[in-house]
Amino acid sequence: MSNKTWRTSTQLVQGGTRRSAFDETCEGLFLTSGYVYETAEEQEATFKEEIKRYQYSRFANPTVGMFEERMAMIEGAKYCLATATGMAAINMALMAQLQAGDRVVASRALFGSCLHIINNILPKFGIETELVDGHDLNQWEAALSKPTRCVLLETPSNPTLEIVDLKAVCDLAHKVGARVIVDNVFATAILQRPMEFGADIVVYSTTKYIDGQGRTLGGAVLFNDDALFKDEMMPYFRNTGPAMSPFNAWTQLKGLETLDMRVRKHCENATLVAKFLEKLKGVRTVNYPGLHSHPQHKLAMAQMGCGGPMLSFEIEGGKEQAFAFENALQLIRICNNLGDSKSLITHPATTTHSKVDAAEKARLGISDGLLRLSVGLEDAEDLKEDLAQASKVVFGA
Ligand SMILES: *Cc1c(COP(=O)(O)O)cnc(C)c1O
Repeated sequence: MSNKTWRTSTQLVQGGTRRSAFDETCEGLFLTSGYVYETAEEQEATFKEEIKRYQYSRFANPTVGMFEERMAMIEGAKYCLATATGMAAINMALMAQLQAGDRVVASRALFGSCLHIINNILPKFGIETELVDGHDLNQWEAALSKPTRCVLLETPSNPTLEIVDLKAVCDLAHKVGARVIVDNVFATAILQRPMEFGADIVVYSTTKYIDGQGRTLGGAVLFNDDALFKDEMMPYFRNTGPAMSPFNAWTQLKGLETLDMRVRKHCENATLVAKFLEKLKGVRTVNYPGLHSHPQHKLAMAQMGCGGPMLSFEIEGGKEQAFAFENALQLIRICNNLGDSKSLITHPATTTHSKVDAAEKARLGISDGLLRLSVGLEDAEDLKEDLAQASKVVFGA
């Protein structure tokens, strides 16, 4: 049985494993929507919540349960609810607690679909939302001078790798009674545990580094508050149905087993590639929290201990040069996903952030020359050679 005193690498491999009567070594994949009862009385007692047992896979499933327990262990959280996608997790984390008249403050450097929820969906239900520049504590302080229900932020952010001071923002939020939700996709629990800085809820797109090999979609919501679980999250989860597929949970349990070593290698490669890009012809700026040139380098190191697995860089010229650069790459593939063992590049202005208007793009630093690189697990020398030959094609020797 799982032991909460295990160290993280052990929890990643063995945490939450429960074996069936067949004593299988590998976690079982329980592809079942329902569960049978010995008697009608047992079924009645289950519905009266007098007995706790599997009832329907929208509520709970053994494979998904193992994934949730392992995720909770590595985050140091009491509760984890696994969802079908990262967006289902973020949507639930917000909608389960909010009602008309509430106020939400968020950092503006958010994943595109998170911005859509803040700007377009929540206001439709009478929820006031305000965006701030996440790196500017004065803006947080001003926005958090009024009663607020939730704060949503992402650090490091997508795609400009901006860092938010978790401790400072959590302190400001708690003074006005707000719960802080941190989207921890880029760092993962291996590099950063937001709850240690005061965050109330941590959300993941497990599609990214937790699957880690670009196979399945998934999400997770983690927290400690009993009332939040019982009165808000669980009723929302059971009745609106964002549940994760058992197959995806099984795949991602396998992903967790190698998460620690993968994330460390991603960071090592990202650091090598970032340093190389800083000197590459045609590259104007490199956004990577692990570089001394990053304006929040010290804060990034204090919160994550390294620069993380993602970077972005701006090349000279605009969209035409950026597209030519992407098209010239031979090893690094064009793809808007991230967190894969394969290195993936995308042009945020025309993909992940194409729905954001020009003024907001400018505020976010998403220029036409910006490219986002999810650094994979290949040999860093091959990645550097690919970037060098692309630079030669676009900018000459
Ligand atoms: C991908 C991503 C999401 C959304 O997750 P999906 O699994 O695609 O729904 C949210 N936040 C961040 C930072 C992401 O990278």
